[in-house]
Amino acid sequence: MKQFILGTEGNQPFKITQMGVSHQHARITIGDDGVWTLEDLNSTNGTFVRGEDGEMRRVGTMVITPMTFICLGPSNANGCSFYAIHLQNTDFIEEFEYLNKLEDEFDAKEESSEKMARMMRLLIASASLIALVGSFVVSHGPLQLMLLRLGSAVSLLSTIFFNPAEKKKKLQVEREKFHACPNPKCAHTLRKNEIRAMQCSKCKCG
Ligand SMILES: [Zn+2]
Repeated sequence: MKQFILGTEGNQPFKITQMGVSHQHARITIGDDGVWTLEDLNSTNGTFVRGEDGEMRRVGTMVITPMTFICLGPSNANGCSFYAIHLQNTDFIEEFEYLNKLEDEFDAKEESSEKMARMMRLLIASASLIALVGSFVVSHGPLQLMLLRLGSAVSLLSTIFFNPAEKKKKLQVEREKFHACPNPKCAHTLRKNEIRAMQCSKCKCG
């Protein structure tokens, strides 16, 4: 079993100096069975863990993985955030590889949402065309009225429910929740090109 006390007076293999971190802030235990446990030691500003949705949540005691993103104290320059695996690594290669994997997943999500948008546009255009051409071909009667109504309904519904730009923006916001620099001394938000280049432009870690 291995145990690390994390804090400004902790025994973690890297120095923590941020003001928002307690002397003995949290503890990580790596059991002989390979199970990692994180425990807040009644710290002043709390211990936070990033969930799958990208949101940071305050925790007491919880089982984590080496790739759990932890924040001791506030999630700004006064706090200290890092991946648990950094207790075992001296570089940030594994962290950047993990960030690249996340980027690949977001790229795939974006691509499939663009594909969906193209299909929707085609569907909307086809329905409108059918309604338009149909209303000319059928010159009067209830069928023409139905076709005109179909045309209006399609354009109304597509305006309300089909908004690919908004969806793209939402995905971008979600993506940026995962863009924190893995270096515990750095509070920089990485850009996509920094992740792909596997180096932070601020602290030069990588
Ligand atoms: Zn950095």
